[in-house]
Amino acid sequence: MTAKGMVIIDENRCKGCGLCLAVCPVHILKLADGRFNTRGYRPVEITDPEACTGCAMCAIICPDVVFTVYRRRARRGQPAPPPTG
Ligand code: SF4
Ligand code: SF4
Repeated sequence: MTAKGMVIIDENRCKGCGLCLAVCPVHILKLADGRFNTRGYRPVEITDPEACTGCAMCAIICPDVVFTVYRRRARRGQPAPPPTG
């Protein structure tokens, strides 16, 4: 699968609230197992970066500005990749 988006996670801002897990349409976000950030929380991780659609729902819902989302633009004359999920 070709990624349409890319997510950068600033994991030390994460407080492990889980809101982003619930809104990701392709279910590729999870809380780390047995690992903690500098604030003592299990930080969010992305399990399958290639599946990210770039929808930015995670960035919109996150109260702690953990995510930066980049979207890939379709090349001129080429259709955008089909939606996933
Ligand atoms: S940008 Fe969308 S698809 Fe990608 S991780 Fe965030 S919610 Fe999931
Ligand atoms: S919504 Fe933000 S603070 Fe909450 S688990 Fe997701 S990244 Fe962490």
